[in-house]
Amino acid sequence: MLNVVEKVLVTQEEIVKRSIELGKEITEDYKQANEIPLVVGLLKGSVPFMAELMKHIDLDFQFDFMDVSSYEGTESIGDIRIMKDLDISVKGLSILLVEDIVDTGRTLKEVRRMLLNKGAKEVKIVSLLDKPERRVVEVDADYVGFTIPNEFVIGFGLDYNQKYRNLPYVGVLKKEIYTEE
Ligand code: 5GP
Repeated sequence: MLNVVEKVLVTQEEIVKRSIELGKEITEDYKQANEIPLVVGLLKGSVPFMAELMKHIDLDFQFDFMDVSSYEGTESIGDIRIMKDLDISVKGLSILLVEDIVDTGRTLKEVRRMLLNKGAKEVKIVSLLDKPERRVVEVDADYVGFTIPNEFVIGFGLDYNQKYRNLPYVGVLKKEIYTEE
């Protein structure tokens, strides 16, 4: 284990097992609704989870990525900046947004609002992790992998200063790592 990790919260085996369950649930829900989603990952954190999850969704869907960032230095709940937009129009489409973690909820609330404004028919959310204690705006994921306590985590897509996204598990970052710098 890397010496920046205090403890492992979710192992690779648990993530794979849960992704299989979520994939089945998502497949059944969309089949029942007679819909095919456009699966949209939010860069970069969603990539490992999305790659795992998609293998278990048994539908003929397309996928794409978006990159958004919140306006830095403000507590504004208003706007997000689009760094990379989707390649196709979302008009009339059912979107399944894939995220690494729902924390304050601001990102997903804004992205969802923006996609609906652009004419998406529906926006559902699947997130690997949920940290409900930190929520400041109302937004709930339709599908959640794991609910975790209020700790800063890294791995399986989640970074600290853009590093450790490649760890095959989700772990708590040692406090001294971010208090030292
Ligand atoms: P929200 O808009 O829900 O506050 O923020 C979501 C984003 O904040 C996530 O996509 C992620 O990039 C970042 N984030 C929130 N909590 C954590 C965490 O515990 N660890 C890491 N590495 N990133 C986090």
